Amino acid sequence: MFRRNFIKLTSLASLGLNSNSFVNDISHYLTLTFDDGFKKSSYRTADIFENYGLKASINIIASGHLKSFNRDPKWMPNHLLGNFNDWNKIKSKGHEIMPHSWEHLNLTKISFNQAFENIDKCLESFKINLDGFSESDSVFHYPYNSSNYTLDEYLLNKVKAVRAGGWLYLKNKLSNEIPSKKNKLRIGAWSHGPGLCDDYIEKYINDFLKSSGGWLVLNLHGLDSEGWGPISSKYLDKLLFRLLKIDYLSIKTIGEIIV
Ligand SMILES: [Zn+2]
Repeated sequence: MFRRNFIKLTSLASLGLNSNSFVNDISHYLTLTFDDGFKKSSYRTADIFENYGLKASINIIASGHLKSFNRDPKWMPNHLLGNFNDWNKIKSKGHEIMPHSWEHLNLTKISFNQAFENIDKCLESFKINLDGFSESDSVFHYPYNSSNYTLDEYLLNKVKAVRAGGWLYLKNKLSNEIPSKKNKLRIGAWSHGPGLCDDYIEKYINDFLKSSGGWLVLNLHGLDSEGWGPISSKYLDKLLFRLLKIDYLSIKTIGEIIV
């Protein structure tokens, strides 16, 4: 190890470079993760992230594209949701598509057996319909960010990580610890709605940037007028442009961080 470092330092010196410029100084990680799978918003979100060389993180309802899906016509009208053709297209460009349940039930409000069945149905549908889906590498994003110990234990035997409300996993903290282990993770996220969430996102991020570091996960939904607590596409674009200039911050999907 010493020899390797010595060689590295020597070769950097020979190039006239300061070794500090090669040290990983990232102290803050940020994930923006978009739920529910609005077709128009998801394509646009993927484009915005792609323009900055970033991967978008999109979590979809496995039965959202079926006519029978009618969970919440106000916030998730069936005709606005995409289908697995859309998700495969977006995934083929390198973006992350993860499960956000079978039919968007609050899994803590039904019996355990019903919840387990619902989870299995969702993961089975992903295996059949989403190209290259790996259950053991996936992250399950709970509807309504609602979870409990039994559901987590059930899921963490199948998937790599679960995401639920920061109020459940983070207590009073804003951000997650940067994970040293990469499986059986419980990831806490914050979200805001039902109106436009730009101001709240701005505040969450500014507070986080002033903190000593960690991993902030913000849960978003659609863009502009789509879905609960939408973010405006113009603001999202400007936000990424601004954040990418911060040298101690890295913007990543959950999958990229726990890979
Ligand atoms: Zn949702």
